[in-house]
Amino acid sequence: MGLFIAATKVHAFACSEILSRFEQSQPHMGTLARIVIYAPDKEAAVRAANAAFKRIQELEAIFSDYQNDSELNRLCQQAGKGPAPVSPHLFRILVQSQELAVASGGAFDITARPLVNLWRRARRQRAVPNPERVSQALHLTGYQHLKVDANAHTAHLTKPGMLLDLGGIAKGYAADEAIQSLQQAGIESALVALGGDVAVSQAPPGKRGWTIEIATANFQVEPKLKSLLLSNAGVSTSGDAEQFVEIDGVRYSHIIDPRSGMALTGRHSVTVVAKNATRSDALATTVSVMGAKGGIALVNAAPDSAVLLLEDTASGLQVWKSKKWQKLKTVE
Ligand code: AMP
Ligand code: MG
Repeated sequence: MGLFIAATKVHAFACSEILSRFEQSQPHMGTLARIVIYAPDKEAAVRAANAAFKRIQELEAIFSDYQNDSELNRLCQQAGKGPAPVSPHLFRILVQSQELAVASGGAFDITARPLVNLWRRARRQRAVPNPERVSQALHLTGYQHLKVDANAHTAHLTKPGMLLDLGGIAKGYAADEAIQSLQQAGIESALVALGGDVAVSQAPPGKRGWTIEIATANFQVEPKLKSLLLSNAGVSTSGDAEQFVEIDGVRYSHIIDPRSGMALTGRHSVTVVAKNATRSDALATTVSVMGAKGGIALVNAAPDSAVLLLEDTASGLQVWKSKKWQKLKTVE
């Protein structure tokens, strides 16, 4: 009964009010957070957006690998010392990360931070890390060494020196949480973008969906492939468009294959559409590591996801689409 009343109210609200478009941006999580909403007036829009930005900031304080006192970094300091309690947000993101680590055979792996750090240094110094250091970092990497206890809500990094990195999933999670915060403020139609990770709720009034232009790096692809119409979904692009280094003519990405310890090479762009941005973010990183064959099979097996993969190969631009990509709505 309670549910019915709530649903009726939302409907009445949607019919009786004229909504206008508002847009705001703030720097968060090392990128620009952009919020677009439809709200009855400016005051409501600013209040709702501010609460959503605050939610993103709170999550950054939990997930950040840069902030020394983030909950994530405090958990890492407990590596090798036994299970430690974690907050609900950290718990949820760890569980989802571990599920994808298992499903991808370790292609997605949040324990790969020692490798990520090594390759970050390599990018700064423009020198490939020496194999000995790669093998040391590999020794500390492996999702099997991270134990998450669903009953006790604890996490245990079983090897001393292990480190976690949520860079492949946290922006999507924060975008989803911002959408939820906006919903709590009565905003039904919103878009939240954190760099290449976007979450959308209901379509703008009178529209079939939010128009999302996929950032396909410098690849020349037909516009139809790039412009999607989405609602209640997440969309993420991973690739080497922004963060990479070229050493001796080889282009090294910021995405690492945790199984070999090597940074990905070559030019690629992976866009995933999923039921939310946590999932699209993590899957886009995963498919980048797995490549076309394994990555598309993984996405085809997931009930709610679609992927577009562009790769620059010796024989020119290669385009791969998963089965459900063809069924997505596009701008006509
Ligand atoms: P994204 O831009 O979402 O593809 O995430 C890339 C970021 O995720 C990197 O900057 C690293 O912080 C982290 N990362 C790199 N490789 C992996 C991996 N194989 N699994 C999980 N996270 C990764
Ligand atoms: Mg990602």
